[in-house]
Amino acid sequence: MLNNKNSVREFARAKNSIAAGVNSPVRAFKNVNSTPLFVKNADGQYIFDIDGNKYIDFVCSWGPMILGHAHPRVTKAVEDAAKFGTSYGAPTVLETQMAEQIKKMMPHVDLVRMVNSGTEATMSAIRLARAYTKRDKFIKFVGCYHGHGDSFLIKAGSGAITLGLPDSPGVTQGTANDTLTAVYNDINSVEKLYEQYPNQIAAVIVEPVAGNMGVVVPEPKFLNDLRVLTSKNNSLLIFDEVITGFRLAKGGAAEYFGVTPDLCTLGKIIGGGLPVGAYCGKREIMQLVAPDGPVYQAGTLSGNPLAMAAGLETLRIIDQDNDFYKKLEEKAKYLVDGFSKNAEEVGVDVTVNRVGSMMTFFFNNHKVIKNYDDAIISDVKKYSKYFLKMIEQGMWIAPSQFECMFVSAAHTFDDLQSAISANKIALQTLLEK
Ligand SMILES: *Cc1c(COP(=O)(O)O)cnc(C)c1O
Repeated sequence: MLNNKNSVREFARAKNSIAAGVNSPVRAFKNVNSTPLFVKNADGQYIFDIDGNKYIDFVCSWGPMILGHAHPRVTKAVEDAAKFGTSYGAPTVLETQMAEQIKKMMPHVDLVRMVNSGTEATMSAIRLARAYTKRDKFIKFVGCYHGHGDSFLIKAGSGAITLGLPDSPGVTQGTANDTLTAVYNDINSVEKLYEQYPNQIAAVIVEPVAGNMGVVVPEPKFLNDLRVLTSKNNSLLIFDEVITGFRLAKGGAAEYFGVTPDLCTLGKIIGGGLPVGAYCGKREIMQLVAPDGPVYQAGTLSGNPLAMAAGLETLRIIDQDNDFYKKLEEKAKYLVDGFSKNAEEVGVDVTVNRVGSMMTFFFNNHKVIKNYDDAIISDVKKYSKYFLKMIEQGMWIAPSQFECMFVSAAHTFDDLQSAISANKIALQTLLEK
């Protein structure tokens, strides 16, 4: 049994002063019928809780910690920056260096605007797309997450081509009416929306690899079909690369799949563990941003020097290593192969989706999971049981079936072998009554 006495006590205390006891919902472990573990510190591939338990971390702060925790170069960059003051509200050369580094790694980008989160990036990108096209509606895919901006918290009504319904109280029907939803990997569902709303659709926004319904991989033609269809209809293609940016390749999913979006949103890795986001893309669109253009968007702390220092150093470390993504992928493949072999030997139905170093282990007997409807029928009860057994064995995995598992540059093959052994034991406990 896991000793989580201190975490249980601290969660009770937090609930008296923090809404729901956590500052972001998934952390509460509600999806796995448990209570959250409170972190004391993290180092490299390891994370330590306040009860003295040590875990191998496969959540990586939901993506950002691609180099592992407290990387010495990143820590030093933040320390050095802090000594110069933590915020000025005026331009710094660091911000230009950051934008130049993004452009170097993502050649389709002409201009960048830094913000403070992925949520801000997608909200701003949609505003800009609407202004550029002078159209109000946009298309998103069921099961894709683009942060918590009102217009993204929309579920499909019955049937994919009906009007959206608010997914959360507080989002108005008026907002929902401008968000159209289509089915991931189903270009037909997108075509139908263009027929139904001619000249009204500003953009299609998509996670080029879906990561927020668990990993769902785009079928070979899907992203390119979106590129062709959006261009044909004079609307914009927005890649939400908040997870995939600097995760799949130096140039993100755009490079990995060879499809160029008009706009791209970034977050997570780009901040090296500090709160950062960015939206970027073609000059003719980005030049509409204020004060050169009329599209208002601002931020007191945008381009914050600590955040720029952490992000820039992270990107530089990645950029300096030509085998960076090859090594990450080898590790991810090793892990997933081990897990798949275990599932077969133990006799548990699973589907493993993986691209590069992002993967999900679905408790699902569908051979192929290609959209939200496929993913959602996964056995979340099994996942909860599996999760708790993994945690007990010191494996820090996502407290929800519908999230990614990541490996970082800090994981060793010994770590992965430990995880594979733990996975087998966890799968075996699923067979016990
Ligand atoms: C995490 C995420 C966001 C939101 O980013 P925050 O920094 O949490 O606001 C947006 N889009 C995608 C694809 C994400 O995974």
